Amino acid sequence: KTPYIARRLSESDIADLLPDRPKNAHKGTFGSLLVIAGSIGYTGAAIMAARGALLSGTGLINIAVQESLNHIFEQTLWEAITTPLKEGEDGGFSAEGIKWMHDQKSRSQAIVAGSGWGNGKGWAEVLEGLLAQVDCPMVLDADALNLLVNRLHLLKELKLPVIITPHPGEMARLTGMSVDAVNNNRLQTALEAAKEWGVHVVLKGAGTIIASPDGEAVINSTGNEGMAKAGSGDVLAGIVGSLLAQGMQPFQAASAACWIHGKAGDVAADAIGKRSITAVDIINALPEVYRRLE
Ligand code: AMP
Ligand code: MG
Repeated sequence: KTPYIARRLSESDIADLLPDRPKNAHKGTFGSLLVIAGSIGYTGAAIMAARGALLSGTGLINIAVQESLNHIFEQTLWEAITTPLKEGEDGGFSAEGIKWMHDQKSRSQAIVAGSGWGNGKGWAEVLEGLLAQVDCPMVLDADALNLLVNRLHLLKELKLPVIITPHPGEMARLTGMSVDAVNNNRLQTALEAAKEWGVHVVLKGAGTIIASPDGEAVINSTGNEGMAKAGSGDVLAGIVGSLLAQGMQPFQAASAACWIHGKAGDVAADAIGKRSITAVDIINALPEVYRRLE
């Protein structure tokens, strides 16, 4: 009776979707991703997102961070460029930093924003700046979603694709529903939100749903409860951004990223056990997942 229909994703779907890696490729072939993430107490979230992206095939990753935290990223993310930006008064970046972000955008094929931001006013300004001038596909996760709660109208005018990746708690805040109501009606909730807000919605949790604004939906078939650990979602945001930067269409990028992320969780659970796997183990299992897909 329900008009809400979704396919389940299979391994062959994903192998077909991933972009080719031509023999004469150079790093420009695989796109440039800008990650805007991290704040005091939450540098780990930014590192997880960036590492998820680094292991997913993007040519170049630039991570824009608050200046005082730059040394942490310089020491942990050797392969990424870091761009230290002056801090705003209550989180985020100063006006100069926000201007840099805008100028940089035309040089990136995708942006990941929100991991480990916090919810200070300064971050709201960063989000508003991004939404006002978005000119490449963008993934909004974590604190960017919490800051979006009173700003959903800003999504309406956007020309380019946005993928939001809420867990059920974040989705409840965005919709004004209870977490139970979201979880009892996951497919419908994701599809209706995608249509109403004009964005791609990844509603996370067991059986993650990927819904497009034009009414398409798939249910992910990989992943396990061992992945219910802080940092897991940040890794996913990085993978989605990486696939977007490589030129995949948003619905395909989101679907493939969820499958790959869940599969990495399954590979890690086989090796380590569900209880003990952490977000870092999900990252470390990514190469095995990509190798099997080749
Ligand atoms: P976050 O809450 O933002 O850290 O995201 C958690 C990540 O782990 C999401 O990708 C979820 O889909 C995944 N996850 C959490 N719990 C489960 C579960 N019980 N089964 C499968 N995946 C899960
Ligand atoms: Mg999260």
